Amino acid sequence: MEIPVCTFDLKTGIFCERCEEKIRRGEVTELDIKIMRALLELEKNFHQLQSMCYVKSVDTKDAIIVVLRNGNLSAIPQHSLASIKRKLSDILGKNVKIIEDSVDIGRFLEPLVAPARIVAINKIWLPDNSTEIRIILDDERRLKLSVESLQEISRVTKNINLKVDFARKSRKRAFPVKQKAGPPEDRDKRQNVT
Ligand SMILES: [Zn+2]
Repeated sequence: MEIPVCTFDLKTGIFCERCEEKIRRGEVTELDIKIMRALLELEKNFHQLQSMCYVKSVDTKDAIIVVLRNGNLSAIPQHSLASIKRKLSDILGKNVKIIEDSVDIGRFLEPLVAPARIVAINKIWLPDNSTEIRIILDDERRLKLSVESLQEISRVTKNINLKVDFARKSRKRAFPVKQKAGPPEDRDKRQNVT
């Protein structure tokens, strides 16, 4: 697997000046190192990984998202990809998603929002000259990842401020359930304590 640090450094844990600089700048994080090590280990059983290129991983609220180079995933059978994901999830103790990089933000986010679909993408210029990408998804109920996770992956890997809207809002989320009060006898007990 092609990785952004020297394979030798990764194996020994002693990084050369160039790799050290990437770590210092935050281009390569502790999480990247952990995942690259795991992937190099998995390469022994999943030979398809050898020809792939590691880009970046982001630990979002709901899942760790591993980004590989554009076009890498079509080369690997679905069942192998599923096993790799499972093994990485076991190692990291968190749900893992593996996606391909793309310069097209819509294509990049597509597998993360699925089974929801992107129905529109707009670039918005803000008064301070910064930009924001606004995506509209078809149905809030079909979105499995949280909006926060989508925003985080976009910010870290693409330096994009993402705004997510829905053509159809989930009613469940629009009307939050009121907190149930405890049974009256419990409340009485608590009062007696004080
Ligand atoms: Zn190095």
